[in-house]
Amino acid sequence: MSAGTGNSDTLPLVRIVDVSKSFGPLKILRNVSLDVHRGQALVIIGPSGSGKTTLVRCINHLEPIDGGRIFVDGELVGYREAGGRLVPLDERAAARQRASIGMVFQRFNLFPHLTALDNVMVGPLRVLRRRRADVQDEAVALLERVRLGDKLHAYPGQLSGGQQQRVAIARALAMKPRVLLFDEPTSALDPEMVGEVLDTMRGLAESGMTMIVVTHEMGFAREVADRVVMMDAGAIVEEGSPQAIFGSPAHARTRLFLQAIR
Ligand code: ADP
Repeated sequence: MSAGTGNSDTLPLVRIVDVSKSFGPLKILRNVSLDVHRGQALVIIGPSGSGKTTLVRCINHLEPIDGGRIFVDGELVGYREAGGRLVPLDERAAARQRASIGMVFQRFNLFPHLTALDNVMVGPLRVLRRRRADVQDEAVALLERVRLGDKLHAYPGQLSGGQQQRVAIARALAMKPRVLLFDEPTSALDPEMVGEVLDTMRGLAESGMTMIVVTHEMGFAREVADRVVMMDAGAIVEEGSPQAIFGSPAHARTRLFLQAIR
């Protein structure tokens, strides 16, 4: 994304405005609006099928939207305005834009034939076309940051799920994203590996990274989220501080959901 769009820190970094999205006849997102400020960690909760994954996939334009607008740092995501209409960005422009909106997936999505180090370097080298010498030092530092300094040359198949997910986080960070999206990053992990990934995410939030996290880890949401958003049936039913959402939810749907997962 182009830098210097003239936004002050008081403007939301991510603005989701009246977004709707259908798959065929199924309305998946119904006029969703949401702001996320710089440095905030926002956690999205809600029942399975409520549209959480679809919403985060729309934020980096892995899914096209049918209506509304999404802005990151003031820049329209996935489209350009032409005569009052939205025209999709071409693949190159969309890929360049997507590179600045990091995403960590449920199933890691590492390249199996590349080492941890090469997985972290591939984006900066191929997409950003940066110099190998600069990229390598940064990639090593990132893998050390996620406590994998001793696994630089391991292949994904030689790493545990928790380690692979930490490589995936380092890979996302290597692109110096403006915001990092997490789509249920611990739900494919064995229970004993969930903590190490959540600890890494907690560290990122403390370092001031802007994060949007879809998760069923309510302990993490309570401790780390600045704001919690509850989705149901494609809409935001309630949002607030973790204290408010978990302590005194205003909406019956939120109360039912929280009771069901306890
Ligand atoms: P959540 O993350 O809250 O579980 P999702 O965003 O994954 O919800 O899914 C919302 C709904 O959209 C579900 O009913 C799901 O089956 C449907 N859906 C998701 N992706 C697709 C797709 N590519 N094609 C058709 N339906 C989809």
